[in-house]
Amino acid sequence: MLTLIPALAEFFVVVAVALAAVLLKTIDARGFLASAAVGFAAIYGGGVSWFITVAVFFILGVAFTLYKYGYKRKLGGAQGKGGARNWPHILANGGVASLVAAWNFFHPSPWNAVLFLGAVSAAAADTGATELGLLSREEPRLITAPSRKVPPGTSGGVTRLGSLGALLASLIIGVTALPLGVLGYPFAVIPACVLGGVAGAVADSLLGAAVQRRGYCVACLKPTEALSHCGEKTRPTSGTPYIENNVVNVAATVVGALVAAAILLVQLSI
Ligand SMILES: [Zn+2]
Repeated sequence: MLTLIPALAEFFVVVAVALAAVLLKTIDARGFLASAAVGFAAIYGGGVSWFITVAVFFILGVAFTLYKYGYKRKLGGAQGKGGARNWPHILANGGVASLVAAWNFFHPSPWNAVLFLGAVSAAAADTGATELGLLSREEPRLITAPSRKVPPGTSGGVTRLGSLGALLASLIIGVTALPLGVLGYPFAVIPACVLGGVAGAVADSLLGAAVQRRGYCVACLKPTEALSHCGEKTRPTSGTPYIENNVVNVAATVVGALVAAAILLVQLSI
């Protein structure tokens, strides 16, 4: 149960971290509210250890995005607005983990902890894969048709550097969560995070290649996966109209959560 003084202290920690992100111009006002919501769910639902895990993911995302940002911007694959993430992107990556944390507030269980770790690892892996993959000198190949080369930043395009980014990011989440005791079964933490994270990134690429909406900008005629470009709504050319990047991200975090839980299940039964 919540007691007033620690609850207030935790409230100010969450607000301070989200505010720091605003001052670094990595999120805007709505992004602040979305990040604070994710932070509150983690700290009240799971405790300080869950909050630190999500905060490390958040900082990792900012670091990966800003790393060689100018170069990625020139390629045209960089996140817009100085790398600032908008609120739908934050909720798409942190939503599943937040719901699990909220559920854990009422029904604490190690299963919630492993689902949470899998969801956070998948979101981290996707960010690592996207941001490091953009720096690859190797041309991305479509995960569903490896003989086909696609431009950097295309959903479903994979590179070796991007895959390494996914592995590295999910390993960092595991190495953070292990000493914090997020999950009561320490032997399962690293395998659940790494395999859950990588499975989430693979799911993200598969869905990105197979079903994600693609289109072009009606103003500058550039192909894009975004819903709007140059201030205009983009016109769809292929894929499923309602399945855009954020929908794919949510699905990938669900896959990450379920794979992580499966890893714990297997480890407990051997
Ligand atoms: Zn345009």
